[in-house]
Amino acid sequence: MTCDIPNIYEYDVVIVGAGLAGLAAAIECKKAGLKICVISKIHPLRSHSGAAQGGINAALREDDAKSHEFDTVKGGDYLGDQSAIKLLCDRAPETIRYIENMGAVFSRESSGVIAQRQFGGQSKPRACYAKDRTGLTCLQTFYEQADRLGVEFCEEFFVGDLLFDADRNKVYGITAMKIKDGAFSVFNARAVLFAMGGYARCYEINSNAHANTGDALSIALRRGLSLEDMEFVQFHPTGLNPSGILISEAARGEGGRLFNSKNERFMSRYAPKKMELAPRDVVSRAIETEIAEGRGAGENKDAVWLDLTHLGEDLIAAKLPELRDLAITFQGLDMVKDRVMIRATAHYSMGGIPTDIDARVKRDETAAIVEGFYAAGECACVSVHGANRLGANSLLEAALFGRVAGETIAKDMANLTLKNADKSDAAGFMAEVDRLLTQNGNESVAKLRAELQKSMTKNVGVFRDQERLAKQKEIIKDIRDRFKKARLTDKSARYNTELFEALEFGHMLDFSALIVEGALRREESRGAHYRTDFPDRDDAKFLRHTFAALDKNGEVKVAYAPVDIGDHKPQKRSY
Ligand SMILES: Cc1cc2nc3c(=O)[nH]c(=O)nc-3n(C[C@H](O)[C@H](O)[C@H](O)COP(=O)(O)OP(=O)(O)OC[C@H]3O[C@@H](n4cnc5c(N)ncnc54)[C@H](O)[C@@H]3O)c2cc1C
Repeated sequence: MTCDIPNIYEYDVVIVGAGLAGLAAAIECKKAGLKICVISKIHPLRSHSGAAQGGINAALREDDAKSHEFDTVKGGDYLGDQSAIKLLCDRAPETIRYIENMGAVFSRESSGVIAQRQFGGQSKPRACYAKDRTGLTCLQTFYEQADRLGVEFCEEFFVGDLLFDADRNKVYGITAMKIKDGAFSVFNARAVLFAMGGYARCYEINSNAHANTGDALSIALRRGLSLEDMEFVQFHPTGLNPSGILISEAARGEGGRLFNSKNERFMSRYAPKKMELAPRDVVSRAIETEIAEGRGAGENKDAVWLDLTHLGEDLIAAKLPELRDLAITFQGLDMVKDRVMIRATAHYSMGGIPTDIDARVKRDETAAIVEGFYAAGECACVSVHGANRLGANSLLEAALFGRVAGETIAKDMANLTLKNADKSDAAGFMAEVDRLLTQNGNESVAKLRAELQKSMTKNVGVFRDQERLAKQKEIIKDIRDRFKKARLTDKSARYNTELFEALEFGHMLDFSALIVEGALRREESRGAHYRTDFPDRDDAKFLRHTFAALDKNGEVKVAYAPVDIGDHKPQKRSY
């Protein structure tokens, strides 16, 4: 493989990521007349946004945004920043209209109004949906509109580095490699937006697409920037056993019930009022407790039953057709007449690249803004989900804050200068690729990745404790050393998937260390982060955001920043 002299391109704005957040931003930037380019390592329509099934929240009609706001603050166990949550909920109805005006067709009541289903932790049915293909409907619509406006796409380009002048505190572009032929490019830009999605692939049992490897997180981290609240990983209660493929919360929203091997509807012990519609962290812990205490179902007693049989074929065909297909394909069980086997699956990342409510990236816990750098969607942490995201709030976040990012960039553009990049700016990424292709040893990336994923599920999963977290820290160190001896067998330039998997694995290793360190230091239980050795929430010590970065020796350093508390003062959280 040859490391060619890189191509140099110049834009006002480079948007990395073509999911809902990236496309929403692209549409706004294009409307503002900016010269933009959207880069994606996969075809835009394969972005994980398209896999979202259940819905997108908004308080419509007789419902009100204040109630949506309270549910979101409480759902996030009071760690969410309340100005950002207020913005999310206030602009949610307008976001639904925006998506609909672009051409997305939501499911309707017979009266013609948009139908809404009940989701966990919400006091009203407020998830708007398109059957169980909500994300796909939105993604296709956004892509069509971006295309109609003439947005330029660079698809199958793998972004590997962020051009950041630390002294001037300024981002001025990215470097990428074309997957088809291995050619390097430098994209010089006044503004860069990261909208690169989530990272649950670092867990063995997860619901995410293969592309969700959190590249954005490690790229920012390696440039000395901090990440926020990385220890908060959401485990969705209903992943198909054993693959982890998602059965949307829509299944419980439409009336699905959970049973253990003794045929007990066990949620009555954990959330007597909300039952199956308690938030995800509560239901996931209940399921894993039932399994741990020997009441698991199935041959290996490592799952529980999700029962939809009482809903009838007509409702399932009308509202949950994809879910039925998934269970038939992966378990051979038909929801119309069979219960299906589920257990918790790593699903969503509450943490990420810290931003203010205008999508501008914060450099660290001081909240100083990095010039020319923006983040939105799942890779960002504007902290609307706090310690636990409520279902159907994430498509909303991606669509809304993607749009906000576009609006902010258009506003900031007059003050953003171009720092001319040249081919030497590609040196860092080229060296990383060269190292991977030439280093010699006997370790296999696939094997190391499996070790990381398995150990993350085991030691940093639904339940955590000091001993397991400390052990995981050592495991990551060991895997990191062995990764230096990994040998790739494919040295070619064309579609070298082995190389891209190795690059993605390097990213997973880097940010996983922050998940572990944040979890180790947070000696309390809050939202999705549950420490069996510290089972209570400790507001006095830990009502604060974790900011983690890497020091000069590659060790994780941790600092904290206050939570933005508004109208909703912390209370005990029960359902
Ligand atoms: C199975 C499933 C079901 C879900 N259901 C719901 C739901 O019903 N409601 C809800 O609110 N939320 C749901 N979510 C969560 C929600 O879908 C996501 O959080 C949201 O869509 C993320 O959008 P995004 O634009 O941030 O990222 P994504 O849609 O994941 O897009 C990421 C983009 O970044 C690009 N990218 C990443 N790395 C690189 C790189 N190195 N170089 C170039 N490009 C790169 C990718 O190519 C992709 O285009 C679900 C998630 C899953 C996994």
